[in-house]
Amino acid sequence: MEQDAVEQLAVAQDGPLVRDVFPDLTAQLVRLLEAEGEHRLAVCAYDLRLLAECDCRNAFCQSFRTHRHPPGTPYGPGHRMVALDPGNGFLNLDVVDGRIVYVELVDRPPAAPGLTAAVRRR
Ligand SMILES: [Zn+2]
Repeated sequence: MEQDAVEQLAVAQDGPLVRDVFPDLTAQLVRLLEAEGEHRLAVCAYDLRLLAECDCRNAFCQSFRTHRHPPGTPYGPGHRMVALDPGNGFLNLDVVDGRIVYVELVDRPPAAPGLTAAVRRR
């Protein structure tokens, strides 16, 4: 397979761009990461893909996964958590080897009515 075709396949499997689904959230993430001096993560945040919503089913949770990870397994030694201050609620990122794998959004106003719909459409 041509390299382009491989990349297009990967994109198709990785879900919609978060910035297309939640432009406001992406802008906020990038801004907060830049403010923390996390410039590399700010670039990652712009290109995040919405893979799956959190399956905890808590009404106050809008967290979502941005990279595949086997459920129930630890992230490993390359993991760190980046806690941001969005001004309301909690906005934390799980970062593994420099990649944002999980966006934790708790006690926040709805980012968009389409979170569940965007994931379920897939
Ligand atoms: Zn959750």
